Amino acid sequence: MAERLAKIFGTEEDKVNCPFYFKIGACRHGETCTRIHNKPPVSQTMVFPHLYDNPPAAVAFADGLNVPQENLVEAVNHFEDFYEEVFTELAKFGELEEVVVADNIGEHMIGNVYVKYQSEDQAQAAMQGLLGRYYAGKVIMAEFSPVTDFREAKCRQYNEGACDRGGYCNFMHPKHVTRDLKKQLFRAMYEDHPQYKEDRDKRKATEKKRSRSRSEDKRRVVGSDRDREREKERDRGGERRRSRSRSQDRKKHSKRSRSREHRRRDSRERRHDSRDRDRDRRGRDHRDRDRERDRRDNSRSRRD
Ligand SMILES: [Zn+2]
Ligand SMILES: [Zn+2]
Repeated sequence: MAERLAKIFGTEEDKVNCPFYFKIGACRHGETCTRIHNKPPVSQTMVFPHLYDNPPAAVAFADGLNVPQENLVEAVNHFEDFYEEVFTELAKFGELEEVVVADNIGEHMIGNVYVKYQSEDQAQAAMQGLLGRYYAGKVIMAEFSPVTDFREAKCRQYNEGACDRGGYCNFMHPKHVTRDLKKQLFRAMYEDHPQYKEDRDKRKATEKKRSRSRSEDKRRVVGSDRDREREKERDRGGERRRSRSRSQDRKKHSKRSRSREHRRRDSRERRHDSRDRDRDRRGRDHRDRDRERDRRDNSRSRRD
């Protein structure tokens, strides 16, 4: 029974806990939902409901309406300014892992900003530090969120390019943040807060050490297996049989090593082939991406 409960917790089958709140941190029924919204007392992730004030063009676009290019560009610039400001401000409380702004326009999700810190303590510091502060003339509201994996919260169809529910979808449609902007903001964060960088490097070092010792463990197990095999064989056969089998082994071995050489050569050739193929593919990807970027830049500069 307990096992079954654990399996269905937060899924559609769970009649007690709300799956939407569990996965996305927001549910269209809000306080009137018939299922329980388990609000965590503390979490690495915080949500700032409706913190981002979407310009009308952004709402119209998310609603599937036609919007003039120049208004769209304005909306993108407006959002990027906001993102940069919020990111920089929130980084003062701790090392940020992710900042996601919902592009959804449903009442319960519009303008929601999700912020994931490296630790719960940092999120708690942010919660305390922001208490009673204002943003754009409104008191900042914040709560801890159950969302820890944004991949689970995101809408799959939207990720693949098209969601037929549009802006009113109940799964998260994150606003697009360019890779350059993200890179720039993270770099600035580590420059402004050397402590975060130190912590991150330490984390990476322990991670590396752990994975190394894991593979060493594996090797040790394999080694002891081999020893056991050898012992078993010694138990099975007598001294004479072994000497005969050893000379047979030697013959077999030379044959094997010859065929091994063949195989090695084969696989080397195959590897070359696939590397060439990879290179071709990568070149194609780059070209596609460049073309896409050019197109975007062109449409942007035409408007400037
Ligand atoms: Zn609910
Ligand atoms: Zn969707």
